[in-house]
Amino acid sequence: MESLDPADWTGLRALGHRMLDDMVDHLETLRDRPVWQPMPAALRERLRQPLPRGPSTAEAVYKDFQSLVQPYAVGNLHPGFMGWVQGGGNPVAMLAELLAAGLNANLGGRDQAPIEVERQVIAWVAEMLGFPAEASGVLVTGSSIANLIGILVGRSACLGPEVRETGVGGSRLVAYASAAAHGCLPQAMDIAGFGREALRMIPFDSSGRMRIDVLTRRIAQDRASGMRPFLVAGTAGTVDTGAVDDLAALADIAARENLWFHVDGAFGATALLAPALRPKLAGIERADSVAFDFHKWAQVQYDAGCIVVRDGARQLATFSAEAAYLRREQRGLAGGGIWPCDLGPDLSRGFRALKVWMTLSVYGADRLGEVVQQSCDLAAALAARVDREPALERLAPVTLNIVCFRYIAADGDLDRLNADIVADVQEAGIAAPSTTLVNGALAIRAAIVNHRTTCGDIEILVDAILEYGGRRARANQNSACREPKQSAPGC
Ligand SMILES: *Cc1c(COP(=O)(O)O)cnc(C)c1O
Repeated sequence: MESLDPADWTGLRALGHRMLDDMVDHLETLRDRPVWQPMPAALRERLRQPLPRGPSTAEAVYKDFQSLVQPYAVGNLHPGFMGWVQGGGNPVAMLAELLAAGLNANLGGRDQAPIEVERQVIAWVAEMLGFPAEASGVLVTGSSIANLIGILVGRSACLGPEVRETGVGGSRLVAYASAAAHGCLPQAMDIAGFGREALRMIPFDSSGRMRIDVLTRRIAQDRASGMRPFLVAGTAGTVDTGAVDDLAALADIAARENLWFHVDGAFGATALLAPALRPKLAGIERADSVAFDFHKWAQVQYDAGCIVVRDGARQLATFSAEAAYLRREQRGLAGGGIWPCDLGPDLSRGFRALKVWMTLSVYGADRLGEVVQQSCDLAAALAARVDREPALERLAPVTLNIVCFRYIAADGDLDRLNADIVADVQEAGIAAPSTTLVNGALAIRAAIVNHRTTCGDIEILVDAILEYGGRRARANQNSACREPKQSAPGC
């Protein structure tokens, strides 16, 4: 039996060079292609194959990748992509992924340089947040898991590490977040065993920030009825409108009420790198834990999220495990200080840290801050254009990089119309906004996240929405005129 490595490396080396050239071409020519195109049914069918029992060549499978996969990705690399909050990645991190895969490091633990790279990355995040030296953290898939970890650490900080043995049972713990908080927070409460109802969703004001007065009242009510408030989660950058909770006020309440102060800064915390935006996040430096994504506004390839905990001992107490096969030693490979597997639920972990480390090292935090500032400037320009266009109406204030608006027509179902316009623009491959609900109204939502997006892309987006909106509004008007004719011939 031979190994899976080739006997002669020449062919693989050539293929690898070609793949690299092709991917660089792909990045260089993004603008020549549609933002997104749906995958044809016939091609979907071609992907569905029984388990391949025999071999093929890497060249043949690469051809399949080129024809079946590459053209039908979601489009988040493209400067016209503004849907949801998705990052565009960067070319240096793409190369870093190759290097990381080359090492195939497992960062669960043990004495190795890749873990030192991850520790450095966590230390940089702690520095960005203004956290003390004893802060700890780990990289995870994304903020969904980072928020879960934050809640679990807050839970054991309140109930003591014994909760790991006894469970939350009848502890009556309750937590608080804005009604605009991300859906992964109630999900985290569910997974942590509290149930979603134990997360009190506090209403937000007209600028999208959690109502502090309601929060205070709700905490008092809960205490009066025998519940145990243990955590408040602020959001730095809500997913719908980009609003930032009053983090300083939340820090005050958490201190007064003895609550764990967690911040979901999935994309918004990146604004700390832009000096003019930093004040909007004042108070985040007082958080007990922060969830943060590199794969969104920080322009690193998926997936790369992180959780950072102010008091590292609490994170360790929540996850450290003693298993015979994971014994630590003073010397040798089984040494190396605290292992990442003691700071979260993952044991085997990939080398996510390399792409983050290389991105920060190559571009520098200031440059990433400039990208963040540019996104916000573009969002402000988009909002101004929307405010100027009689056919458009803005639906929410713009705090950071997200603009919510809609096309307005004299009559008809505006929600349907705007959902159709968004699908039209996406299917035409011109741009990719998404939709959300703002105060019950369906909004076209443009989240400017990508470092490649320019003023021109904003104009292309608005022009396309006006174009498709106009067509649909005219078509609706015509059919509204015809309809009575069909039912009442005398009209
Ligand atoms: C994206 C996002 C999340 C979820 O993060 P993932 O990285 O997708 O797991 C949580 N909260 C906010 C505010 C987000 O924008």
